[in-house]
Amino acid sequence: MILNRLLILVTLLFSSFYVNAQEKNGNTDSKETKKYSKPEDTEVYTPVPAVVNPYGQNGVPSDAIVLFDGSNLDEWVMVRGGGVPTWKLDAANKTMTIDKGVEKKNATLRTKKKFGSVQLHLEWKSPRNTGNKGQDRGNSGGYIQERYEVQILDNNDNETYTNGQVGSVYKQTVPLANALVPTEQWNSYDIIYHAPKFENEKLVTPVSITLLHNGVLVLDDFTIQGATEYIGLPSYKAHGKASIKLQDHESAVGFRNIWVRELD
Ligand code: MG
Repeated sequence: MILNRLLILVTLLFSSFYVNAQEKNGNTDSKETKKYSKPEDTEVYTPVPAVVNPYGQNGVPSDAIVLFDGSNLDEWVMVRGGGVPTWKLDAANKTMTIDKGVEKKNATLRTKKKFGSVQLHLEWKSPRNTGNKGQDRGNSGGYIQERYEVQILDNNDNETYTNGQVGSVYKQTVPLANALVPTEQWNSYDIIYHAPKFENEKLVTPVSITLLHNGVLVLDDFTIQGATEYIGLPSYKAHGKASIKLQDHESAVGFRNIWVRELD
């Protein structure tokens, strides 16, 4: 009798030790098999993704905010002074082109709306090559949240520092490829941008950015180091939602078909 009880006790202790060891090793096969025995065990029905018609607004996704469709510049103001844009609108061709207007001062634009994380689509075109070189040929840029510049440049037979070429986050990374089409033809940028997170003015999560240039991956979940700088190293300062800017850098770059989908 005593021997029997002793045997049971030893068996219990041993099986408990065995199960613990299996769990520590991450081996839960027996449990998993038991829990997920039917196909339905791994099927979920909520949440249900929102229906988005990818071409629902004249070819633009139905849930996108259209920032420029070629008919007007109503979504934009000048950074300098906040007035009506001096850019040239060509409604017939649904384009706008950087133009300083009569004042001949910087004509960088920003959106009236402010954004956090976004999917951003824009199309742009370098002007005819009139012999300018390096950063002086077809330079513009899309500044997301007013601080982080994705470079626009005509790099066709035009060398410059590679962390400042087309498709770079300006002076922060060399793009994975140069996917330019010939000068004066339309390029597309599709950007997935995750805004930085701050707590009490301190950076908690930096920007992550992915860029497809004419459908070619050129920035792959790149971690932005801070606001892009012409001189010196980038750094972060806490901020909230902010505009998208299109840079005037002394080149008559054209734009069309600009829209965003908010991701937060
Ligand atoms: Mg630029």
